[in-house]
Amino acid sequence: MTAAQESLVVTNLRVEFDGFVAVDGVSFDAHPGEVRFLIGPNGAGKTTCIDAITGLSKGTGSATLGAQELLGKPAHKTVRLGVGRTFQTASVFEELTVMQNLDIAAGLHRSSLSLLRARRGRDSAIETALAETGLSHELATPAGILSHGQKQWLEIAMLLVQDAKVLLLDEPVAGMSLDERTATGELLGRIAANRVVLVVEHDMDFMRRFATRVTVLHQGKVLSEGSVAEVQADPRVQAVYLGT
Ligand code: ADP
Repeated sequence: MTAAQESLVVTNLRVEFDGFVAVDGVSFDAHPGEVRFLIGPNGAGKTTCIDAITGLSKGTGSATLGAQELLGKPAHKTVRLGVGRTFQTASVFEELTVMQNLDIAAGLHRSSLSLLRARRGRDSAIETALAETGLSHELATPAGILSHGQKQWLEIAMLLVQDAKVLLLDEPVAGMSLDERTATGELLGRIAANRVVLVVEHDMDFMRRFATRVTVLHQGKVLSEGSVAEVQADPRVQAVYLGT
């Protein structure tokens, strides 16, 4: 098994804030080759799960990437271990160009020597990320004037350049047009081929179209898990979403 084929395995994750249990014994796994969705109503604990995996919140239990335990490591260490994350609001450097943003992402990942080597020639990691995300024609565009969708794709491209093995995407299509949602779903399918892609999402239509496996959280616990058809047919999920 190569490094790029490592799975994310979360076991009995628990996160507590001042006595309030936001995530209560959650287990799920996500493998390269699938577009994994984590859904659930507001307050279900989805963002808290990915905060714990990335080291932004303290959790107990276990979250492993391959043989590496992620829980208990600070955010800068989980990044180094290959955990990449996007937020609901794209955090790109708006005043810098697309290329400059990608250069910064590459610099975070590489030693200065290898960056220098890469600059002398064509940087294949950056070119691949640009091609994957459809941003090849926007190299000189300041990130601030990209469309909402393009900013999210730039953030994903930055994670690809950092060679992230796991991409945790928090509501990646919020505020996107239908065309942008479709392009994003197709992009996720492509990049999931050799990475773990875990999408936290509210948008049920997007989930139906692009998820290959779904975990439904409710009140900090796993309510249901399976294919889109399986979770949609689960009466417990219908009760939570439709109040039936
Ligand atoms: P979701 O992403 O599913 O909407 P969250 O993970 O953001 O849910 O939140 C789960 C629960 O934990 C909510 O009740 C929320 O209010 C609570 N929560 C999240 N972060 C904190 C925090 N830093 N301090 C206290 N409570 C929090």
